[in-house]
Amino acid sequence: MKTEKTIALVAHDNRKKDLAEWVKWNSENLIKHKMVCTGTTGIMIEKILNEKNMNPKKGNIKIKKLKSGPLGGDQQLGAMIAEGKIDIIIFFWDPMEPQPHDVDVKALLRISVLYNIPIANNRSTADFIISSHLFEGKYFPILKDYSQYLKRNTI
Ligand code: PGA
Repeated sequence: MKTEKTIALVAHDNRKKDLAEWVKWNSENLIKHKMVCTGTTGIMIEKILNEKNMNPKKGNIKIKKLKSGPLGGDQQLGAMIAEGKIDIIIFFWDPMEPQPHDVDVKALLRISVLYNIPIANNRSTADFIISSHLFEGKYFPILKDYSQYLKRNTI
């Protein structure tokens, strides 16, 4: 992963306030990177970052917005991870409420682990990730070698 990261930001409805606060606190750092969000989270974050008027180019900060989570946004994000397009995930999922797209959430968590993507599911972990010296530089996550698995399943 390069110095400029592609950061995915997602929050379930009950966790959006947490993510909004975290983004405000870290806006100066975040705007140096590319951001990808599920739909509703993306609208919220774009609004916050533009409200704060933190963009040195004085233009609008644009965030890539996928579909809303329950409408397939988590799956779109999972596909981006499989394609190597995501470096870091900040995903505040709701531990107290079942979601209509729980299976998509599970799939997203699985694919993140499979591809060894740093993933924060709460604010403390997000703080540790963004304040790590690894966040500022190049980093190459070690990927497990699945070639034996591929051979085993080839006719
Ligand atoms: P949302 O989706 O950003 O569209 O609310 C988040 C999610 O439920 O994964």
